[in-house]
Amino acid sequence: FAGLGTKGLPAIKEEMVAKSVELLHLQFVDLEGILKHVTVTAEQLDDVVDGKIMFDGSSIKGFSPINKSDLYLKPDLNSFTVLPWTEEEGYSEARFICSVKNPDGTDFEGDPRNVLKRTVERAEEKGYAINVGPELEFFLFETDETGRPTEQTQDFAGYFEPSPHDNGEKVRLEIYKTLKKMGFTIEASHHEVARGQHEINFKYADVLTTADNAITYKWVVKTVAKKFGLHATFMPKPIAGENGNGMHTNISLFDIKKGENAFFDEKDENELSETAYQFIAGLLTNVKSFAAVTNPLVNSYKRLVPGYEAPCYIAWSSSNRSALIRIPAMRGPGTRVEIRCPDPSANPYLAFAIVASAGLDGVEKELKAPDAFDEDIFSMTAEELFLKEIDNLPTSLEFAVMEFEKGEIGRKTFGEHVFSEYVGAKKEELDSFRTTVHGWEMEEYHTKF
Ligand code: GLN
Ligand code: MG
Ligand code: MG
Ligand code: MG
Repeated sequence: FAGLGTKGLPAIKEEMVAKSVELLHLQFVDLEGILKHVTVTAEQLDDVVDGKIMFDGSSIKGFSPINKSDLYLKPDLNSFTVLPWTEEEGYSEARFICSVKNPDGTDFEGDPRNVLKRTVERAEEKGYAINVGPELEFFLFETDETGRPTEQTQDFAGYFEPSPHDNGEKVRLEIYKTLKKMGFTIEASHHEVARGQHEINFKYADVLTTADNAITYKWVVKTVAKKFGLHATFMPKPIAGENGNGMHTNISLFDIKKGENAFFDEKDENELSETAYQFIAGLLTNVKSFAAVTNPLVNSYKRLVPGYEAPCYIAWSSSNRSALIRIPAMRGPGTRVEIRCPDPSANPYLAFAIVASAGLDGVEKELKAPDAFDEDIFSMTAEELFLKEIDNLPTSLEFAVMEFEKGEIGRKTFGEHVFSEYVGAKKEELDSFRTTVHGWEMEEYHTKF
């Protein structure tokens, strides 16, 4: 797999000496997938590796109550990487991604990374490894004299446009170089459809590594953009009337015993296995109840509207980009399904866990996938959609949260702690949005009434 590396402790120590690593950042994410870290000195490496570094969980969104707030960080050695932008002569910094532990050494159930680890174990019990390759899109915006983001995009280029129109080329090049030094395999980089919008693709890996890679990618994109005086955003729909930011998620199951892709069957008309169809059925059945996780913001639902290459209808297709689930042409070991609704504001640990869990549900329950839908769904009338029984994704966060609470997949995948924290956080966000008077309301109503 194309992880960030598989380094043992001796190799890590060697690299730390060679690159004069002085500081170590111990990283994890909160409920919303926001990166956190505490920094310690390199002399503390042994304590770090033994999981002895403690922090206050009550200050982290979605973590623990104030009376049970002592939590510990246990680094994943595979995630060790020196941070290229800190390197200078005789000095550098490195980081570990950590899992969060209780004082008794057990996994802390409120840690999103631990949620994903449980889904990985559930798949393994069934004989599968989960592989994921996401495509995270982002915008580059200009900043003002004080360094604050403005609403001016950094260029006005479009899909695949080179310089001189694409002003982001140098930034993407720097992001590419940084990620490569950190052990990523970068597969493609291009300007996206909207002005100021970009995409850089890294190679798929096992789902835990990929979620680690996704938070690292977002961090690097923002860090490098800032060096250029720009603001990078993964907000799903920063500009009305333009394409939004998607996080297409390519996913497949790997049959551990047979050592092959479990989605490929050359004898089938679509060259897809029974398992693949069941997985697709699991996604389609559960998508309404997991949208609140893959599309977590009020703003996420402004992306999921017709006309911007983002899905709004619940259907799958062997080719069609208007569908929620597309099967990329690649077969054999590369066979996979691409689910197109997730956006990059999602917590990658929770989003990948719930998508994989929904697919596994289909496999466990041997669900039957409906027929593939190869027409352009966007050009169909409401009546046609009704007759073909094509349902809509939730049209707002409010509906999505209702479905999430009602459905079984959230509780089953997250466990009680994360499930109830998540519902609580989303309701708070909805309430804040509902009781705020927005610019649109002032513009539409202030003078008219
Ligand atoms: N930006 C589109 C979305 O919102 C995807 C465009 C593409 O990659 N083809 O999902
Ligand atoms: Mg892409
Ligand atoms: Mg894209
Ligand atoms: Mg794609």
